[in-house]
Amino acid sequence: MYLKKIELKGFKSFADRTTIDLMQGLTCVVGPNGSGKSNITDAIRWVLGEQKVKTLRGAKMEDVIFNGTHRRSALGVAEVSLHFSNEDRRFPIDFSEIVLARRLYRSGESEYLINDAPCRLKDVRELFMDTGVGTEGYSLIGQGRIDSIISGSSEDRRMIFEEAAGIVKYKQKKREALKKLDNTELNLMRLEDLSMDLK
Ligand code: ATP
Repeated sequence: MYLKKIELKGFKSFADRTTIDLMQGLTCVVGPNGSGKSNITDAIRWVLGEQKVKTLRGAKMEDVIFNGTHRRSALGVAEVSLHFSNEDRRFPIDFSEIVLARRLYRSGESEYLINDAPCRLKDVRELFMDTGVGTEGYSLIGQGRIDSIISGSSEDRRMIFEEAAGIVKYKQKKREALKKLDNTELNLMRLEDLSMDLK
């Protein structure tokens, strides 16, 4: 599994459709200050489900949409897609390529798509859980992240190892199952109360 292509349109400084092909191995992005290098990593974070506007270096989510220049008017929609090679079936989906896309309209309407099928943010998070990819995944190391890993709590560091070991998904499923059990317990108690009333 590796990220082989990034497509951006209307995202921050990328008004026109822009395709970035990534080879296996190391890719370096170079360019003058303010040319949009960090906007590419913002785009990756965003499509993976980033909800914190501060992390995306904006004041509101709409700031990710191209807001125009003196020569060009603003656009109404931002769209980013990530193309992952899935030859090794690391993603539990029977396709050799996974395309994850996110769109945001100025109206606030937004959507996620996995291989062109609309899905929820929860589906995106589940798909990437335990792969190391994801807004909190260890494969996205932003400026200052190394410092925060070193100086963070052992609990925070443990999260990184758990993701690498592939157990985050199961911990999440366990949490969901326990919540369901709690709800069922409450329903049973309520049922008991009702049947007592009927006696
Ligand atoms: P540096 O090397 O200084 O870190 P960089 O190459 O990483 O710079 P970015 O921070 O990615 O540059 O890009 C900043 C540019 O993106 C600025 O020129 C800014 O005006 C532009 N930009 C950010 N958001 C938008 C937007 N919504 N619409 C249009 N342009 C935007």
